[in-house]
Order: sequence, then C-alpha cells, then structure tokens
Amino acid sequence: MSRQPILSCRNIVVDFDGFKAIQGVDLTIEEGEIRFLIGPNGAGKTTMLDVICGKTRALSGQIWFHNRIDIVKKQEHEIVNLGIARKFQAPSIFLNLTVFENLELAMKQNRHLWAVLRARIDSGQRKRMMEVLAQIGLADQAERKAGLLSHGQKQWLEIGMQLMQEPKLLLLDEPIAGMTGTERERTGELIREIAQTCSVIVVEHDMDFVRTFSKQVTVMHEGKILCEGTMEQVQRDPRVAEVYLGK
Ligand code: ADP
Repeated sequence: MSRQPILSCRNIVVDFDGFKAIQGVDLTIEEGEIRFLIGPNGAGKTTMLDVICGKTRALSGQIWFHNRIDIVKKQEHEIVNLGIARKFQAPSIFLNLTVFENLELAMKQNRHLWAVLRARIDSGQRKRMMEVLAQIGLADQAERKAGLLSHGQKQWLEIGMQLMQEPKLLLLDEPIAGMTGTERERTGELIREIAQTCSVIVVEHDMDFVRTFSKQVTVMHEGKILCEGTMEQVQRDPRVAEVYLGK
C-alpha cells in the first residue's frame, strides 16, 4: 500500500527584506517517513522548518497537511494543535523541575505552571508519560532534576516533551549536536522508533549520522532543492560535491 503524503510544500518562497532565503521549494513528506534535510550553511534548511511550524511567514506558496489543510498562513499554536511539533537546537526544558514534571508541563501546556503541578493526572495521561519516558530512555530518571541530566538526556527529554502531544510530524534541528558517540547512536534509534507513529524531518550536518540513519535525503542549496534520493544517490550527484566542496 502506498503511503499518503503528510506534508506537501508547494513553491515556497521566503523573503527577508529582499533576500530570497527560500526560492520556490517543493517538498513532500510521506506518513511515517524520516527525511533528512542537508546542505551547506545558509542553504535554507532551518528556514524551511521555521516556515512549516509557522515561526516564519512564507511570501508565497502552500503547505498542505494531510492533503487537506493549507497551514502556510496559520499561527504557530494552531500548527502545534494540528500535530506538528518542533524541537529547536537549544533545549528549552525546566532545569529545576524533575523529568516527570517537565513531561507533565508539556502535556498540559495550556495551563499555568502552578496549576499544572497541582492538577492531578489521570490514568491515561500517566500511561502516556510512562510510554514516553521509556521511549526516551529516561524511565529510571523520572524523579531526577532535569538540570542534573547529561547533555544527551536533556535533548531526549525535550524530544519527549514534544512527543507528549502525540504529534504526526516532528521537526528536529541538528538533534545530535554536542552529543557523545553513544548518545548519537541512541538518538538515531529513537528517531527510528518515533517514525513508527510520526513522520520526522531532521536537519543534520553530520554526514556519518545521515548515512547510518537516513532512507531519503533532500539536499538544499541557496534556497532551492538541489536533489533528492537515498544518501548513495545524492552522493553520486556531482552537483552535491560541488556545493559542499565549493568547487
Ligand atoms: P541553513 O539552516 O541551511 O544553514 P538558514 O535557513 O539558517 O540556512 O538561512 C538561510 C539564509 O537565510 C541564510 O543566508 C541566512 O543568513 C538567511 N536568514 C535566515 N534567517 C534570517 C532572518 N531572520 N533575517 C534575514 N536573513 C535570514
């Protein structure tokens, strides 16, 4: 059975005061797909994630979610509510709260902090928290203050916070930056697990990581898509070597 597109970006243009950072990008992501977005610095990768999650406005183009809803003009919170989650490079977890409390906050993100920590969680919510804790490998750290976690664990906790809302599409910007080799490996496995229920777009610079964990790769350059395919296919494309090596 062929998979349905979860996201179809059509002819996206982003203009920053006359500078076209994105110049007519078409990008289609299928359900359950892990898509790596690569390309040299300044190619427009992060800007594409920003447009998808509503942080940056496109000058023109459409972004169809589930082939039904054009999200290109929607507000960030509306896009989150539709099931698109974004993890930024720097973790934005609460260091003085425990791992469990951070997940609780993410689950009840519309309430005030004091209300969240006083409100009871029901059995369904507890079950979801336990599932996410296990998935991010922090089940034995639930009562630990987030500030005491390793760098990798903090990143996983933030991914876990995004997973609490059961997103359908997760956007990750350089998720393994600053991680040890073991943490990178674990993060790759986590992304594969997440993709069982959710499509993932990953912006990544580490080519070894991309080689190990990618199926489909999109190469961007100067605000356009240069080519798409498996890592093997795109590596054979002479234009890719050219933009990376600056020949
Ligand atoms: P990448 O993630 O591929 O390194 P970016 O998407 O961050 O590239 O940036 C693409 C281009 O857009 C770069 O030339 C960058 O300087 C420019 N850019 C990004 N954000 C802004 C902004 N807010 N204002 C002006 N220019 C920006």
